[in-house]
Amino acid sequence: MLVNMREILDIAEKERYAVPCINTPNMETLRAVVDAAEELNTPVIIDHAQVHDSVIPIEKIGPEMVKYAKQAKVPVCVHLDHGVDFNFVMKAIRLGFSSIMYDCSALPFEENMKNVKDFVRIAKELDITVEAELGVMASSAEDTHGDAESRVLTNEDIKEYFTDPEEAGKFARETGCDALAVCFGTMHGIYAEPPVLDIERVKEIRAAMPDNCRIVMHGASGVEFDQVQRAIDAGCSKINYYSYMSKAAVKFAEEKIRETEGKIGYHELQEAVYGLMKEHAKEVLTAFRNGK
Ligand SMILES: [Zn+2]
Repeated sequence: MLVNMREILDIAEKERYAVPCINTPNMETLRAVVDAAEELNTPVIIDHAQVHDSVIPIEKIGPEMVKYAKQAKVPVCVHLDHGVDFNFVMKAIRLGFSSIMYDCSALPFEENMKNVKDFVRIAKELDITVEAELGVMASSAEDTHGDAESRVLTNEDIKEYFTDPEEAGKFARETGCDALAVCFGTMHGIYAEPPVLDIERVKEIRAAMPDNCRIVMHGASGVEFDQVQRAIDAGCSKINYYSYMSKAAVKFAEEKIRETEGKIGYHELQEAVYGLMKEHAKEVLTAFRNGK
């Protein structure tokens, strides 16, 4: 069933687990993620990143995402990831998305806050949830959906992007957003060195924010699970995940082609990759459930 983010994340936070938000830029990934959630009987968030519009336009994949969500036996939220311009965001709403990330994080704090506040007013009327971002999420050179700048970043470099807890509190109270993406050690894409998360910062952000605003971690691919688990315990309930699933699918497809010496139909290759991605999605869904 199609639901918004709040219907999924309020329960997750109360029970101290997190729900993955996974990019679904093609039919195989979409089927894999929704089928994985159904097999595990757990909710999931699927998303289209505005930056993926060059790969597949939202007019093509959006209606499929909404259809799959409506038909699913489990709650599925259809979310726009990093919507950076207002017209695009409104297009997602027209297509039936139940949740929007309106990312104005490249703007100065006050402007970001004003834009999100105005947008929340529109979205609330339509029962659509809103995620915003505070502190620009860094992106690696190998990023597959990145915004912001792209360069190889060390853990020391990432610190300059960290979200200030007091600002997070003020932003969430002023705008009324449902969820806030914050930076405490993760980035988009593939990591140059194993990431180290600032868990104390997550706790401080949680304490500074209103109870009804959820904390979001972007760039969870490649973070060791014990760190993810500590971030969940500290109050993270939505975790964006995609890059490493995409990487695993490419590696698997390469092996399949080599194994069969290229004597495999494209449809068979697609189905095999779908199977791999479904198992990958199930692992992620199970891991983020934190044993619950
Ligand atoms: Zn992101």
